Amino acid sequence: MRVSTHIYTSAAVATALYAYSHSIGEAAICFASGILIDLDHAIDFHLFSGEKFSVANFFSWYHEGRWQKILLIFHSYELFGFVYAAACYLHSELLRAVLWGTSVHLLLDQIGNKKTYQLSPWFYFMGYRIAARFRREKLLIRL
Ligand SMILES: [Zn+2]
Repeated sequence: MRVSTHIYTSAAVATALYAYSHSIGEAAICFASGILIDLDHAIDFHLFSGEKFSVANFFSWYHEGRWQKILLIFHSYELFGFVYAAACYLHSELLRAVLWGTSVHLLLDQIGNKKTYQLSPWFYFMGYRIAARFRREKLLIRL
């Protein structure tokens, strides 16, 4: 999914959250979390690429499919379940804002990246990635 798509959708979700909560802080956290969730791509690039970092290398490593392992620690439904439970238990508006921003991001990735990258429908479950040992050949579907 393109970064610009995440920026526009995060802005829309943050605006809706602001209309509901009247909290600029919540809206800002929602907006930021909807974009910053992708920082886990940088972690993976650092851990697994073996390449020198540059913006061009970073994006081409993913888009050209040079990756062989991928962790994506923040892109997992299990993590969302944990954050949701914590948000409910703690009555945390901050966690609620993080959930809105990151949930919409993950759903867009689930829908938009499936065909583009031939991802398994289970790709965004950490348990699935663990079972696949984070290996490319097990995380992608063959057409
Ligand atoms: Zn993403």
